[in-house]
Amino acid sequence: MSKQELYIGVDVGGTNIKSGLVTFEGDIVEEKWVDTDVHKGVDDVLDRIGHIIQEFVENTDNKTAVRGVGMGIPGQIDVRNGLLKESPNLPGWDEIHIDEELKKRTGLTVTVDNDANIAALGEYAYGAGRGVTEMFMVTLGTGVGSGLILNGNIYRGATRFAGEFGHMTIEQDGPLCGCGRRGCVEAYVGLNGILRLVKDQLKSGKESVLRKIDPDLITPKDISYAAGNGDRVAIDVFRQVGEYLGIGLGNVVNLLNVEKIVIGGGVSKAGEFILGPARETLFKVALKVCLDVVSVVPATFIDRAGIVGAARLAMLNGK
Ligand SMILES: [Zn+2]
Repeated sequence: MSKQELYIGVDVGGTNIKSGLVTFEGDIVEEKWVDTDVHKGVDDVLDRIGHIIQEFVENTDNKTAVRGVGMGIPGQIDVRNGLLKESPNLPGWDEIHIDEELKKRTGLTVTVDNDANIAALGEYAYGAGRGVTEMFMVTLGTGVGSGLILNGNIYRGATRFAGEFGHMTIEQDGPLCGCGRRGCVEAYVGLNGILRLVKDQLKSGKESVLRKIDPDLITPKDISYAAGNGDRVAIDVFRQVGEYLGIGLGNVVNLLNVEKIVIGGGVSKAGEFILGPARETLFKVALKVCLDVVSVVPATFIDRAGIVGAARLAMLNGK
């Protein structure tokens, strides 16, 4: 009997390293999440990733075999050379040959790509993006990531840094963004943007359960919980977030005529509180000819698109 083929997918973030053993059909059969502990330094993090990969390989039995390893990492990556040029979420990770470093540690070839591209690939192959060829994915978290699938392939652009939806300008004189410019999508829809909107709403004197929490410690989960209980401030904040998101998405739809927009990442757990207003605004911004085909849907995997996407990357690379 031939062995079941499995692929290792690793999704490195600023907070967690998520990893899993994934079947060809996209099912995660074993999973491991650990803290990234970025402060321990590049070598320490890479050692632990190497360890995780080796553990997965060693734990396979005589019925299974690991056929490839893929990895997503935040930051600007020269995909052809497996070179991470820089990463805002992983301070100090500049000009690192990720694939070489992991080959040294595991003896295996690890295919590396940007985490947002990987998440898009995961949703495209196994999740909410199945069945279309033009798909755009937005990951709402601390930052705003995005990945673009055009004609069934990850679109990377001339120098491979395409898909910076988070830094599309919404308001020329808007709030300062982490990138140093003003009024980007991320400055409204990223975590800091959302917290600013909460503080603005609270300053206006409205009643809210969010007043009971230190304003600097409010999390998207708190806002979701409050919104679910009918809290007006929380609902209005998510409405504003959705509207800003919708402006950006409307521009994407007009430019690219994508069929499906998939929204994932931790903040997207707010669901229709954000997606509803995002759709309404998108319908105002986008042209009717483009709107006829487009739908905005939640991601299937939410926190796990990166794991299955990284595994998928390994599969594609093995062909
Ligand atoms: Zn920006």
